Amino acid sequence: MQINLISDTVTKPSNEMIKFMINCKVGDDVFKEDPTVNKLEKKVSDLFGMDHALFFPSGTMANQTAINILTSPGEQLICSKYAHVYNYEGGGVSFNSGVSCKLIDKPRGLFNYSDVEAAINPPDFYHSPKTSLVCIENTTNKGGGACWDLDEIKKIKETCIENNLKFHLDGARIWNACVESGYDYSDFGKLFDTISVCLSKGLGCPVGSVLIFKEKYLKKTMKIRKILGGGMRQSGYLAACGLYALENNIQKLHQDHVRAREISNLLQKLYFVEEVYPVETNIIIFKNKDQFSTHDFINFMNHNGVQLIGMGDNKLRLVTHLDYTSDHHEKFMNLLSEIHSDNLLK
Ligand SMILES: *Cc1c(COP(=O)(O)O)cnc(C)c1O
Repeated sequence: MQINLISDTVTKPSNEMIKFMINCKVGDDVFKEDPTVNKLEKKVSDLFGMDHALFFPSGTMANQTAINILTSPGEQLICSKYAHVYNYEGGGVSFNSGVSCKLIDKPRGLFNYSDVEAAINPPDFYHSPKTSLVCIENTTNKGGGACWDLDEIKKIKETCIENNLKFHLDGARIWNACVESGYDYSDFGKLFDTISVCLSKGLGCPVGSVLIFKEKYLKKTMKIRKILGGGMRQSGYLAACGLYALENNIQKLHQDHVRAREISNLLQKLYFVEEVYPVETNIIIFKNKDQFSTHDFINFMNHNGVQLIGMGDNKLRLVTHLDYTSDHHEKFMNLLSEIHSDNLLK
């Protein structure tokens, strides 16, 4: 039995999802004539109470498009030092949009409105880049699946309005955040200029993200998606998976969170674990004591059929997901609790 805890992106489409996929109607989406893509886009924009949504091949492209339409070259955006847009999009912020990042160094990828205020360059000081955008991530990925408090987001929104800044939400895992915190998608739709969401993580789709935005950005978003090579033809086959997942897989995220907490509770009791970061959703980040090398631990796990990755700084990450079954969970929990001799890790 192979157990993959590397990411929630490793899921494969279920037979039911594939059945739904092959029965959908398709057309050429570059001409906006794919009924299934149109249906998905309408469903997602309605869910968030925003004007429009566009289907994208990846979350990276959706984020990069949002950043492009909300900024001009030479400007600066504000984000956490853990942000996906800063760390994991290949430098696209500067490559695609000529924009730099001002990083906020606060735990777990969360920050508050006064951190934003302090990061804004004075608008009249022509030596510094003009601050034009704030990006936040919910849940935070490198921050360990942490959820934002809606009131804090509202305060940041006020700061954005006062300082004439745009506001983008990287909501790759907004589904997890809403399932966990009980907020409605429309709570977020009211606060942001643009929101990106991923279908290919906890929701179990093979491919796909959606960017959601206000009416006035429609033309520009279509244009930038085309420029970045994201105009797809009969992409209804992929969008169908999204429709299926929104109907069937959101409720299942709760199970991922329960299992992640069970893993975290167990890890905290194990003698070789130094620290487990707080677990709110499906991401577990922990550190072993210095004498147990990360490398040896990963090797030991791989040898026992479990895949996981290091996060740098001696940190390890586990992510629960739709394809992490109760059998996997039982086997993994047993494996962890059976580690009781240092030799096991050597
Ligand atoms: C996965 C992820 C993305 C998008 O990633 P793709 O692999 O390009 O779909 C964006 N932001 C966060 C926080 C993510 O975890």
